[in-house]
Amino acid sequence: MVDWFARHARDLPWRAAGTSAWGILVSEVMSQQTPMVRVAPRWTEWMDRWPTPADLAAASPAEVLLAWDTLGYPRRALRLRETAVAIAEEHGNTVPVGEAALRALPGVGDYTAAAVTSFAHRAPATVLDVNIRRVLGRVFAGRSHPTPAPTRRERDWAAALVPGTGHVEWNAGLMELGALVCTSRNPDCAACPLRGDCDWYDAGRPIDPARRPSTQTWHGTDRQLRGAIMAALRADPDTEVPVALLVTETADLDPEALTALPDPVEAAVLRVRALGSAERVARLVAALVADGLAERTAGDAGEERLRLPR
Ligand code: SF4
Repeated sequence: MVDWFARHARDLPWRAAGTSAWGILVSEVMSQQTPMVRVAPRWTEWMDRWPTPADLAAASPAEVLLAWDTLGYPRRALRLRETAVAIAEEHGNTVPVGEAALRALPGVGDYTAAAVTSFAHRAPATVLDVNIRRVLGRVFAGRSHPTPAPTRRERDWAAALVPGTGHVEWNAGLMELGALVCTSRNPDCAACPLRGDCDWYDAGRPIDPARRPSTQTWHGTDRQLRGAIMAALRADPDTEVPVALLVTETADLDPEALTALPDPVEAAVLRVRALGSAERVARLVAALVADGLAERTAGDAGEERLRLPR
């Protein structure tokens, strides 16, 4: 596994020698639910702009959401900023050491605490993301797919497998193997260094229908529509978008109010209108405000407007 990782590890910017623990923490938060190839350019921009927690803590939520751009699940951006504030104010601008101290930070869960402990502080830790869980389950337990979340028993079992020497390469290598070779749907067993030890391969790769992950759809979901509303707010951060334009059925839109908007905002509003009913948009606007991702303001005539949080 160590040899395989040395030969096949992707050249990701946070793997460069000298990357700070803060840089590792940012990469782990960004990489949850977003492919690393999409994360890499955004991570580089963030670290150039906000190289320490105190730098990010001084940024406004709007700046952070704009820089997060299209990585998805933008609440992660706000939580990362809260984490930065806590590290800057309570830990002297230094990422704390130890999983318990890391888990005490806002937005840092079991996975991120273990990953930072292993990859940044290079201390033994049981890193369990979905890729590692899939590989371990196939090799050592003959299971096709992991359950949605690890149980305490699975954590104890996985911890017993982490080697005393080479634990960082073990975690990083398993994670990379799961991302590149032992994928959920099309594992490339012919290219796998663990094939000779893999229970699931030996058993003929039986699929457990109860564990097969469901196909995630994107089109038509609330996530897609939330993303479109956020895109309208990001299109020109100086423009506050009239809520009436977002929640009025397309046929009833005021053309003058629409064309008064800058072109990118007008296009983004029309996309929102094309994706969902006025009722759905109104519900999701309320949810975005409740999540702290948007805020309502009043225009000159008292009309309700929406913008990124300041
Ligand atoms: S042999 Fe196939 S199933 Fe087993 S770990 Fe390798 S890629 Fe995954």
